[in-house]
Amino acid sequence: MPTGRDSERLRLTLSNLDMPERLASGRVPLQCSSVLMEHYHTSDDKMQTVLEHNKRWSNEKKESDPSFFHKLSNIQAPEWLWIGCSDSRVPANQLMGLGPGEVFVQRNVGNIVTHHDMNAMSCIEYAVSVLKVKHIIVCGHHNCGAVKAALELPHTTPSLVNLWIQDIRDTRDRNIEQLRKLQGQAQVNRLAEFNIMRQVFSVCTCPVVQAAWAADQPLSVHGVIYALEDGRLREVTQPITGLPDLERYADHKRGVMKHLSGALLTRIQFERQLKRLQTESSTQEEGVEEPELGPLIGASSKPLPGPPGEASP
Ligand SMILES: [Zn+2]
Repeated sequence: MPTGRDSERLRLTLSNLDMPERLASGRVPLQCSSVLMEHYHTSDDKMQTVLEHNKRWSNEKKESDPSFFHKLSNIQAPEWLWIGCSDSRVPANQLMGLGPGEVFVQRNVGNIVTHHDMNAMSCIEYAVSVLKVKHIIVCGHHNCGAVKAALELPHTTPSLVNLWIQDIRDTRDRNIEQLRKLQGQAQVNRLAEFNIMRQVFSVCTCPVVQAAWAADQPLSVHGVIYALEDGRLREVTQPITGLPDLERYADHKRGVMKHLSGALLTRIQFERQLKRLQTESSTQEEGVEEPELGPLIGASSKPLPGPPGEASP
């Protein structure tokens, strides 16, 4: 059990961490309290160091700009949304040279964006619809552990991470011929690039981004890879500013993105064409004294586009 002095340090640490008062005051079951004390006792010095660093940083910011925190606390207007890997070596703000308030951030293992990930989709929705960010960056990096795992771990390995990286493994399988020509680090880094392309495509085809482009909201999507060796960001995809860009990009890169440019893109094109036909049909009917009622699509003499293909990636 900790000594009286240790107990006082523990109490201060818990107070600094805003732990519930019940824990800080020691009014917890003996067994639970002992576990907490042991844990916080062993990490106490490091935590104190973190708090000291934070205090110093806060003071330096206030000295250089007395209104710094006041301005930040009242408004958030970043131009950038960063979607990157959780890897500790790839900090968004620092490597972009941007400070607090300038980047909205979403990070996860392997910088994966799927349309059924409510975390990522909510983040994109808030960033695009509310904050009106002008740029979305999808960033992967060299020597990524998630990408390595997708190359090496058997599909049947029972772990949550292994389930999570299924999207990267799928990208691996669809580009297996190109990947087989490489070995070691080069193979890992090439799959990281394929993964970035896939996630860029996923961002571009998600409903929020499609709606923003349809409303002519300025929004560019970028795919970049970060090299741990020299700290440099390099573009993997050209900036994509709308559906025409995406279509051109997919065609231009068909050899690389043929698995991406199929069903989902076809569905979006189909729905766009359908909407245009509906709009044209409504406009034509405005000039007719007794408009015919009936199926909206049937009112157009123009041929309908083909149906969308198979399920999305
Ligand atoms: Zn990573």
